Amino acid sequence: MELIDGNRIAAAIIAELKTEVAGITGRKPCIALVRVGEDPASVSYVKKKEKTAAEIGIEGRIHLPPVDITPADLFALIDRLNADPGVDGILVQSPLPKHIDELAVFRRVAPEKDVDGFNTLNLGKVAQEDDTGFVACTPAGIMELLARSGTDLKGKHVVVLGRSLIVGKPVALLALQKKAGANGTVTICHSGTSNLPALTRQADVLIAAIGRPEFVTADMVKPGAVVIDVGINRVPDATKKTGYRLTGDVHFATVAPLCRKITPVPGGVGPMTVAMLMQNTVKAYRLQNQR
Ligand code: NDP
Repeated sequence: MELIDGNRIAAAIIAELKTEVAGITGRKPCIALVRVGEDPASVSYVKKKEKTAAEIGIEGRIHLPPVDITPADLFALIDRLNADPGVDGILVQSPLPKHIDELAVFRRVAPEKDVDGFNTLNLGKVAQEDDTGFVACTPAGIMELLARSGTDLKGKHVVVLGRSLIVGKPVALLALQKKAGANGTVTICHSGTSNLPALTRQADVLIAAIGRPEFVTADMVKPGAVVIDVGINRVPDATKKTGYRLTGDVHFATVAPLCRKITPVPGGVGPMTVAMLMQNTVKAYRLQNQR
């Protein structure tokens, strides 16, 4: 079994971006990070994004509207950022409070600044295999992990657990693309799928993104499979200072010995998501400034 080290691969991408940004003369790329309210996971994700941007030399502008901001005021903020020529990329941290329609917010971000890749146009470009758009960061990170750890999907059966707009659907579309490294045969499973273990057991590459701690057990995995665990779940644990431990959607202890390759949680897909956000920001800067 080989561990796919997301920290190491993300660090390599960040180092490449740092070199690229150092070579930019004049104004550096800039990302606006919008976090609504004080959700603890969002606080830590935005901090990490701010820190990584600074490390690369990308300017991070932080906007922290209160949890009770009206949808109209949030739209107005996004409109201002869309119109600001000094801002190349915009990230609105998910999840948003219940009174705000998240999809409407994703649609409001100008496609050319949509570094999170959730805008309708950018999702459509993934379906059309048009590389001029932005691929959502977690799915892009999964593809990069597979590529950089030497897993070619051509001829492989890829089973995706989960069909969210953020992970499941876009990663399935990427795996399906008729491109080098992709070209997989893809099955997507969800809560309405019957006999799920029979499908997951057929997977040469299994991508688990359902948000259920340690859901994928050894009896659901084909020996020799490559397993990508996207899940980030907080499980109560009194022995930890924080009161919880992080676990994936895969029961790592029993599944890992079966696999050819597997990502750990933490240290697998998570760091890649941030690295790909930074890559998208530099791409947005280049596209908007034609440099
Ligand atoms: P969502 O809750 O939006 O989607 C979960 C998907 O899993 C849905 O399609 C749902 O099916 C399906 N599902 C849920 N339970 C089952 C089940 N018992 N059997 C089969 N399918 C099931 O989650 P996300 O896609 O946003 O996130 C998934 C996980 O990935 C979470 O743990 C999240 O924290 C993590 N994540 C990690 C990131 C990273 O950077 N590493 C980034 C984003 C997410 P249905 O559609 O039928 O409801």
